[in-house]
Amino acid sequence: MKSYNIRIEHQCPQCGAPAILEETDRLFTCSFCRVRSYLTVRDYFRYLLPFNAPETDSLFFFPYWRFKGMIFSQVMEGIRHQVVDVSHQAVDLRFIPPSLGFRSQALKLKFISPETKGFFLKPERSADMIREHITDFIGLSLPKPVFYQTHIGEAFSLIYAPFYTQNGRLFDAILNEPLLQRLPEDFHAMSLAGGSPDSTIRFISTLCPDCGWDLQGARDSILLHCSNCETAWMPVKNRFKKVKAAYLPGEGGGLFYLPFWRIRAEIQGIELTSYADLVRVANLPKVLRSGWKELPFYFWTPAFKIRPDLFLRLCTSLTLSQPRNDLVQHIPKDKIHSVTLEISEAVESLKLSLTTLVKPRNEFIERLSDVSVNPKNVMLVYLPFQTDRHDYVLSRFSISINKNALGFASNL
Ligand SMILES: [Zn+2]
Ligand SMILES: [Zn+2]
Repeated sequence: MKSYNIRIEHQCPQCGAPAILEETDRLFTCSFCRVRSYLTVRDYFRYLLPFNAPETDSLFFFPYWRFKGMIFSQVMEGIRHQVVDVSHQAVDLRFIPPSLGFRSQALKLKFISPETKGFFLKPERSADMIREHITDFIGLSLPKPVFYQTHIGEAFSLIYAPFYTQNGRLFDAILNEPLLQRLPEDFHAMSLAGGSPDSTIRFISTLCPDCGWDLQGARDSILLHCSNCETAWMPVKNRFKKVKAAYLPGEGGGLFYLPFWRIRAEIQGIELTSYADLVRVANLPKVLRSGWKELPFYFWTPAFKIRPDLFLRLCTSLTLSQPRNDLVQHIPKDKIHSVTLEISEAVESLKLSLTTLVKPRNEFIERLSDVSVNPKNVMLVYLPFQTDRHDYVLSRFSISINKNALGFASNL
């Protein structure tokens, strides 16, 4: 399945200048007044498709859920993965198209703001119901039994499409074309649950809460840096919260630092708290050394979006390698890749990581439902990659990432 990014027409909250944003943009810098703002929402981003309807009081906005993400399913043969990008009716109405089709790809959308007027139908189906529906649908084509399914990097948004009625006909208000020649006589959109739109978008100030300096970051980054006091910040509700960050210094020039989450977790169902435990459960060809019992075990996951097969491979390689030497508690000064995967999403991968480590695997998979992993402590760690012609390479852990694969990941 191909995934894509929505484009959004936006106005600078400071000076009103128009701009076009990508769906993944978070840090917005106005090209006129240079003021920066950080976009955040209480729950989901809500968008409106542009419309062209004649003056009518029968105009209404119909909600679709859009789901984007990677779905991983553990079956006996291994881990199956899918990239999913779908839209689905959020209200059951059989004469409205069941999905948005290609319209949200072709058109520029708008954020729903407090100024947006109109009658918006209230979603009947929750995001959880849609997620379950998609997961079940994917499950149908998988070999049984399916031991475990999880979603990583998922994003839900609500997209509202405009319709109106005229002389008993239903019109699509984007093209102004009739969709249905005869509506049921008892149909009145305004009698359904709905009303003014729910606007949840917020713009938060990008000044460092510690020192007042302007925070830095790429436009799609969910984590900003202060280059003055060398701290890292993530939006939590209406403000920026400090994130523990460190880096592993690399050698030589032209380094590119990629961000990873290092997670300490409480694991039930298998004993895995130290490096010695890892050597034992993963059956690593190493002679146990004294002191390994005292080295804590950490899960490692990418803190950026990347294709599902590469995502899993990076989790496995780094978790087996357990990078631990010489971490410096700062943000590196070299070029860095933006953080685009939330901690809560990274955490979804931990149980899957276990199934790639633990030996014998089949026996472990069969009792996977009795295993639980609770994250306790998280740190962001930048690792130093060398740049060669096609790949980013971290030779000490034998890891390479194709440059194109990282480039295409902005659509995931
Ligand atoms: Zn501006
Ligand atoms: Zn600062």
